[in-house]
Amino acid sequence: MAGLIPQDFIDDLVARVPIADVVSSRVQLKKSGATLKACCPFHQEKTPSFHVNAQKNFYHCFGCGANGNGINFLRDHDNLSFNEAVEELAKIAGVEIPRDEKVKQVYSLQNKLWDALEYANLRYRDALKGHDSKAIAQQYLKKRDLSPEIIERFSIGFAPAQRDFLSSSVPPETLKSLITTKTVSDKYERLFDLFQNRLMFPIRNSRGKTIAFGGRTLGDDKAKYINSPESEVFHKSNELYGLYEVNQSNRQIERLLVVEGYMDVISLAQYGITYAVATLGTATNTENLSQLLRRCHNLVFCFDGDNAGIQAARKAMENALPLFEDGMQLNFLLLPRGEDPDTLVRDEGKEAFEQRINHAQPLSEFLFQIYSEGLDLKIAEHKGVLKQRAEVQIEQVRSKVLKNALRQKLNQITYQRVKRGAFQEQDSARDLVSTKVVQDPDTSLCLALYYMPERSTEFLRVIAGHSDYRHASEFADFLQANELSNTNAVLFRLATDDAGHRLRFSSLFERLDWIPESTEIQLVADDILTRLVKEQKRANALKATKINKLPSQMTDEEKQALRSISVTKSQ
Ligand SMILES: [Zn+2]
Repeated sequence: MAGLIPQDFIDDLVARVPIADVVSSRVQLKKSGATLKACCPFHQEKTPSFHVNAQKNFYHCFGCGANGNGINFLRDHDNLSFNEAVEELAKIAGVEIPRDEKVKQVYSLQNKLWDALEYANLRYRDALKGHDSKAIAQQYLKKRDLSPEIIERFSIGFAPAQRDFLSSSVPPETLKSLITTKTVSDKYERLFDLFQNRLMFPIRNSRGKTIAFGGRTLGDDKAKYINSPESEVFHKSNELYGLYEVNQSNRQIERLLVVEGYMDVISLAQYGITYAVATLGTATNTENLSQLLRRCHNLVFCFDGDNAGIQAARKAMENALPLFEDGMQLNFLLLPRGEDPDTLVRDEGKEAFEQRINHAQPLSEFLFQIYSEGLDLKIAEHKGVLKQRAEVQIEQVRSKVLKNALRQKLNQITYQRVKRGAFQEQDSARDLVSTKVVQDPDTSLCLALYYMPERSTEFLRVIAGHSDYRHASEFADFLQANELSNTNAVLFRLATDDAGHRLRFSSLFERLDWIPESTEIQLVADDILTRLVKEQKRANALKATKINKLPSQMTDEEKQALRSISVTKSQ
């Protein structure tokens, strides 16, 4: 539907609805002199630094830099898409969104289907409380030890063992919609409910609308779980079970745990781990992952430790590689064989389970572990297999820093020469795989300087005195002092050196078994420098906010730095 709401209407709407009305519909505002303030909903704080500028119809937080108009606020606060935020804003303003006929039809159909599914959800919930055969469902919930609060939070219901529980008593319009969503089937001119004798889990979209159901059998059906088929309102690969509930329980999402089943999400929530979501029977695909990464840059994928689990984890990892950007954290947690989050969190409790989450393997380690499955890396041919498996995938990585680090490690493993002496034990192939990928930006900058010594002054401006870039600083100093401006000059100077520089700087590159191409190392270096400049700006801005300056007292540079934080955050 994007683009079909006229831009004029959106602009007018944003201008017309006072930002104070938008913010106060979600956050309590306090009057302080001429301005309205609140404790920021986007970062933790005790004294309010979130300001509403009625004149400019704009909000700004001087603590975390969040800022924007009504649509930005609703998107960030409610985790909405652009169109959803426009709809919310229109609701606050009490106006209708003009759409062309076709769009109107789709929209009203969607509303009808949502209403019908909500109706079904209510019926299932009522049945759990009052149906003649509710005991079977109640017993199951008791066995699973689910509290009334959790049953309520996840809107769990019960579909009795009855062919026409829904279809026998539903208004005709609603029945039509239930047939459209295939909650009720009318095949062979006979009505029957899709879900019978099942515990019902409504699947809700990010706005809390019921869009489908999952049902767990309470008998001995072959299909333990079934899901609603796809429909106009339910596209499996775009949806995640539990996301709405995560948003409801958390002001801010620090990390998301991605698990496999409904009961995993619910049990974890019952034990206080309220940040789990489940994919809906699809391996974590690109749509799922984009959805997740839009909300949170720290994901932990949790899978059963059996073969199917390992395959699912591999799929998730491979889909994640092209989406990985600097600043993201993707971790993988394989549970012991025969365990799932549901059983494990019951056995060992929240703390122990969170320990597992905290020790999940980072993507850079997990990748090599997965691809060396079944290989003996002491054998040359097996190294070749690993290279073949991993190389294609590594090429997909968008983050240049990560890509380069992964390539370095792959080459370390596959070109490893046999070394003698004390290191021999340590350097066995298995240990190599389990060592961490060292994303060593210091060495990368040294290499870049070797290729581009003419940039030593520029480098020094950013890294001089930086303890993480000690080697690169020294090298740049040397290049600058000797006025070396091309690689040949560097080589010549080092070759004819008598002051010990050769010894000093050749050690810089010793750690590398393989040297990336100059164009590539240039990109990596530029990335590192850009990041360092950003970090320095951020540090300055933090300093500015720490001394609690008012914006009117800030220098232009400090304001700019503050803005750069919010830019980095929203990217
Ligand atoms: Zn803030």
